[in-house]
Amino acid sequence: MTIFIKAPAKINLTLDVLNKRSDGYHEVEMIMTTIDLSDRIGLSETTDGEIRIISQNRFVPDDQRNLAFQAAKVLKEKFHINQGVSITIDKMIPVAAGLAGGSSDAAATLRGLNKLWNLGLTLDEIAEIGSEIGSDVSFCVYGGTALAKGRGEKITHLPAPPNCWVILAKPSIGVSTADVYRNLNLESIQHPNSQAMIQAIQQGNYQSVCKEIGNALESVTLKMHPEVQHIKEQMFRFGADAVLMSGSGPTVFGLVQYDSRLQRIYNGLRGFCDQVFAVRMLGDRFTK
Ligand code: ATP
Repeated sequence: MTIFIKAPAKINLTLDVLNKRSDGYHEVEMIMTTIDLSDRIGLSETTDGEIRIISQNRFVPDDQRNLAFQAAKVLKEKFHINQGVSITIDKMIPVAAGLAGGSSDAAATLRGLNKLWNLGLTLDEIAEIGSEIGSDVSFCVYGGTALAKGRGEKITHLPAPPNCWVILAKPSIGVSTADVYRNLNLESIQHPNSQAMIQAIQQGNYQSVCKEIGNALESVTLKMHPEVQHIKEQMFRFGADAVLMSGSGPTVFGLVQYDSRLQRIYNGLRGFCDQVFAVRMLGDRFTK
């Protein structure tokens, strides 16, 4: 039997870093929302007991470095599963882009194998298992919109943000999250106001959402990769209402409400950036 599951990307409406913990992780506060840009994960049962990764994308590792592989391995070991699984990853989300592609593939694999192997786990149980694999996996298990605290695994669900378009542009570089955190100076962080963003979302106030977006990692990545700043400036120039880098970058997203403006920004960015997407936010979170 083969089942297919959607693994949507996320953007950060806010990303704040509060401090560095004694275990080496940073304590963060992030408001994230899933968007309609998804990988497609196919899960096929095999009888040889092996976990296999199949992907046409040369940037996707096909061994235990793949987060989807790790997700299958954790479940197989925890629940003493003898069957194997072949995991096909149709990659639409740019890799190493700040969009949590790998984490979302892992989350989708956990949700899918819960069905395929009849494990009967709740989403909360799946999210807890996900947190062992990566800090963004718990959020990706639920999707929708949420505040994530701790190292990213403590999730509080939020309503969907006001309806708008999200335009994404990714320069042709990958950014290592670890490098960005290494270059982060905790003394000089510009903290976004998470509470103000939560209020803006709860009130469905688009202007306030645009005003409150902020990312403490942005200035670090901008210093390392000036081309990200260039994309930000161009998005503003073409008419986006708000522009921010997602995660540790390098993807930049812009928010806009009107189709005519969306078209202008999209066309303008396509002139010099080969990966540009125009998508909606995904309001609903997963229920199983
Ligand atoms: P995050 O926003 O969670 O920091 P990201 O979007 O910046 O993640 P990913 O696309 O998840 O980054 O890729 C980061 C690295 O993870 C890649 O360089 C790749 O080697 C590795 N990786 C592991 N599993 C996957 C996967 N399923 N898809 C893509 N990359 C993966």
